[in-house]
Amino acid sequence: MSELVQINHLKVDLMSISGLIHAVRDINLTISSDEIHGIVGESGCGKSMTAKSILRLHDESKVEYSGEILYDGGRDILKMNKKDLLKIRGNDISMIFQDPMTTFNPLLRIGDQISEALLIHQKISKAEAKERSVEMLEKVGILPGAARYSMYPFEMSGGQLQRASIAMSLICSPRLLIADEPTTALDVTMQAQILKLMKQLQREMHSAVLIITHNFGVIAEICDKVSVMYAGQIIESGDVRKIFSAPCHPYTKDLIDSIPRSGERATKLTSIPGAPPKLNHTINGCAYAPRCKYAAEKCCCEAPEFRTLDGGHRYLCHLAHDSLTKGGATE
Ligand code: SF4
Repeated sequence: MSELVQINHLKVDLMSISGLIHAVRDINLTISSDEIHGIVGESGCGKSMTAKSILRLHDESKVEYSGEILYDGGRDILKMNKKDLLKIRGNDISMIFQDPMTTFNPLLRIGDQISEALLIHQKISKAEAKERSVEMLEKVGILPGAARYSMYPFEMSGGQLQRASIAMSLICSPRLLIADEPTTALDVTMQAQILKLMKQLQREMHSAVLIITHNFGVIAEICDKVSVMYAGQIIESGDVRKIFSAPCHPYTKDLIDSIPRSGERATKLTSIPGAPPKLNHTINGCAYAPRCKYAAEKCCCEAPEFRTLDGGHRYLCHLAHDSLTKGGATE
């Protein structure tokens, strides 16, 4: 697997009525081709801001970026001119949004909207674009594709619309698909179907996928790698199975412990007390300290540095990697 997107020291500041918000605070992240990478964290932790920065979807009159987002071995997306950026949007890198009801223009036929993406990026005829769109609709399970091509968004259910938005985002065979909370607006059975479909299509098309979610269950279901975000920083990242079985950062462990489980694995559901810090001022020490049950005096005044374990597993904490199983003494 080669590196497709390399984010180095990304910071994103937002201008708001309450001042400058440091929404993303110096993150490093690598997305390799052919992998499903998840970013998980609570609302407001900066996960969607990070994902949208890859396509520069923010209102740039109110946002300031620093750092770099290198695409395909060198081109910095943050420095690209508008023309080059438009060439990769929807073609090399595409995005699925949370609410399928707002993805489509309600006045245009679903199929025509999918074909339009092809006509913008590829030199093909309208008839060929229609044929490929019908095929893609069938691939995502909207059958029969030819009849559904002419439907308007209001004629489809939420699940069908999310399938259609997956079809639209994959029609140009992107190298990276960004999915921002793609199942949050759907009911539970439909969520499972959409996750299964995304995984199946990712394997078939060899695209990389970056999935944004607040739900660790979604990460466990579909991802190869995970980055956990808190207060605008990545606080732990690595292989999903390793992090799930032996998290090193107290916040990751608290998130995993708050997943509802049934049957033999059922445990008392826990919640994380308190709230994340406000991001419109400087944070001294560890951002998680006010909520962390392992916090020591040092944690409130000294910012932790990343520790790296085998297999690229990294976490940002003063604790030694086996501390959570030994009661949590800081070093
Ligand atoms: Fe908790 Fe301290 Fe680790 Fe922060 S650095 S997560 S406060 S133990």
